[in-house]
Amino acid sequence: MSGDKVRLNTEWLCDCGGCHVALVDLHEKILNVLEKVEIQKCPVLTDEKGYPEADIGILTGSVRTEHDRHAAMEMRRKCRTIIAFGTCAVYGGLHGAGLAHSREEIMDHVYRHSPTTRTDFIPGNSISGLEKMVTPIDEVIDVDLYLPGCPPHPHFIFEGLSALVEKRSPRVGQESVCAGCRRTMVRTEVDTLREPNEGVPDNATCFLSQGYICQGSVTLDRCLAPCPNHGMPCSGCAGPTMQVLTEPTRDIRTEISERMSRLTKIPYETIRTHLEKSAKTQYAYAMATKMIGNKPTFLIRKWIAEGEAQP
Ligand code: SF4
Ligand code: SF4
Ligand code: SF4
Repeated sequence: MSGDKVRLNTEWLCDCGGCHVALVDLHEKILNVLEKVEIQKCPVLTDEKGYPEADIGILTGSVRTEHDRHAAMEMRRKCRTIIAFGTCAVYGGLHGAGLAHSREEIMDHVYRHSPTTRTDFIPGNSISGLEKMVTPIDEVIDVDLYLPGCPPHPHFIFEGLSALVEKRSPRVGQESVCAGCRRTMVRTEVDTLREPNEGVPDNATCFLSQGYICQGSVTLDRCLAPCPNHGMPCSGCAGPTMQVLTEPTRDIRTEISERMSRLTKIPYETIRTHLEKSAKTQYAYAMATKMIGNKPTFLIRKWIAEGEAQP
């Protein structure tokens, strides 16, 4: 503690920057936080290059480069409590989809072919090297608090930070996104799967009942269900529910296939095959975590094995 204030460091690893924007975008609640917290290091607010001793350390992003690994270890060394903030930090996040490609393919695409970042060369030692895997931070350092979400909703950020400052357990539930969704699951005669952009879904009925894949029932509620309540199926960005994570035989494809085939006339096998074929999308946010990578979903295992086989 510095005076009466809690000292806070934040650091970003391999990420999109969205979690740090969410952190400083607590609206008027940021004032409540600033009353109790002294922000010592934060890439979007301060120019601190080192790692001062701190009470709380917030890490966003996953470990993908040598620099990420170094930064995560320095944060652990200097911060009494570490929060894995955001789905990238907790489960690897969208970068997990990179495991489906070699490092050479990724570098080649980013530096030679991507329309927005294209150059004529691939940098060598001038940038931090890509590691073989995308790694959630608790596989590199010990983590004290997990706050998934892409990014986490301000309600949960404020509750998580308040709980730490007040030295109590966070008041958060373990419900799925369905708990906050206003749609109703009903049995229908729907017999074909629909793509998200196909047709106009009815606003009162569960997407699954209408033939659209929605991951709400397998996703932890850390967002208050904005997508299904505003016309979009949930894509699972907050990461899986505890049931999916902890029960070895349960995973995203079996849970959704069972539920959807009970609600519609679409056969279980049809849904399951569709989910396997689009596994890179369906599992994108949590693919890098061992809890999901070790599920019996052979495509994910294959991608991860290919990543590990690289020199
Ligand atoms: S969790 Fe989402 S918002 Fe946060 S850094 Fe990762 S991709 Fe960006
Ligand atoms: S599966 Fe999706 S649409 Fe259906 S109740 Fe759950 S969140 Fe809502
Ligand atoms: S509803 Fe699903 S996709 Fe939308 S923010 Fe919540 S977890 Fe993410």
